[in-house]
Amino acid sequence: MAQVYDRVALIGLGLIASSMFWAVKRAGLAGEVTGYARSQATRDSARRIGLCDRVCDSAAEAVKDADLVVLCVPVGAMGAVAAEIAPQLKPGATLSDVGSVKQAVIEAVAPHLPAGVHFIPAHPLAGTEHSGPESGFAELFDNRWCLLVPVPDTAAEPLARLRTFWEGLGANVDEMDPAHHDLVLAVTSHTPHLIAYTMVGVADDLRRVTDSEVIKYSAAGFRDFTRIAASDPTMWRDVFLTNKDATLEILGRFTEELFALQRAIRIGDGEKLFDYFTRTRAIRRSIIEAGQDTDAPDFGRIGPKK
Ligand code: NAP
Repeated sequence: MAQVYDRVALIGLGLIASSMFWAVKRAGLAGEVTGYARSQATRDSARRIGLCDRVCDSAAEAVKDADLVVLCVPVGAMGAVAAEIAPQLKPGATLSDVGSVKQAVIEAVAPHLPAGVHFIPAHPLAGTEHSGPESGFAELFDNRWCLLVPVPDTAAEPLARLRTFWEGLGANVDEMDPAHHDLVLAVTSHTPHLIAYTMVGVADDLRRVTDSEVIKYSAAGFRDFTRIAASDPTMWRDVFLTNKDATLEILGRFTEELFALQRAIRIGDGEKLFDYFTRTRAIRRSIIEAGQDTDAPDFGRIGPKK
């Protein structure tokens, strides 16, 4: 694929930014990629493994002359980072992000935008439970969705260019409005993570009673929960603080369903349980048919993907 931007700057050098860098290199999408992370330790790791063509010691230096700047920091840090880099952004540049929540990021970033900079929020629906500069890999976005969430009056050319960039990273691209994005993600990602965190918390309490049998005899269902519940605490704290309304709405529906199933178990309503599980099994099949997961044993997730 041809080069899409001359210079790309990645701010924050964790799982998503490092995967973007390797995927940019795989496809030759940019002339130069600069990177910045707040801690010296992360910048040192990035330099050691060759992550980014140039790792800078300040965000200002990294974004100077960049045609595309992507904020790859936790959602709660987006506003402060945008304020810091805003004066250095080149007129005509595109500013984007990869945050898991969109309305809060738009509210935090938009007030800092200088005139002539195109702000196009985005969210790649791809990740693992690993974090940090060494966790990324070029294939992370392959055949995954990347949602672009344009604000009103977004110019057509920068939007089309960002779409081409994400397609070059391997993703399928769609557009969505911010409120709808946050509701959809509350269903498909945020609430499931909260449930996983809760279930692992319950098991941990129980472990104190059963003397580690929960770990020793951990079966597939619980193991999958623990994988999700190993996700980065900062990132997920910020997701729930910033996607509060949609998460509470879905959690309300979830607890209603849970009580209905609890009652079915109590009164021995096998037909209700069977019908419910038949319906949910069909959803799993449609996710596999849509190419969004694999039916390989352990979902093909044995060991970290590199
Ligand atoms: P990560 O691996 O934990 O990396 C986060 C990066 O942000 C690190 O370089 C960190 O710097 C920097 N950072 C953390 N707090 C900061 C602050 N207060 N100010 C400035 N920089 C800060 O995170 P990630 O998984 O790549 O996630 C990055 C973004 O992508 C988040 O907004 C997340 O919601 C979104 N996202 C994540 C996933 C996923 O599954 N992980 C999927 C889609 C989207 P140091 O290393 O120097 O501390």
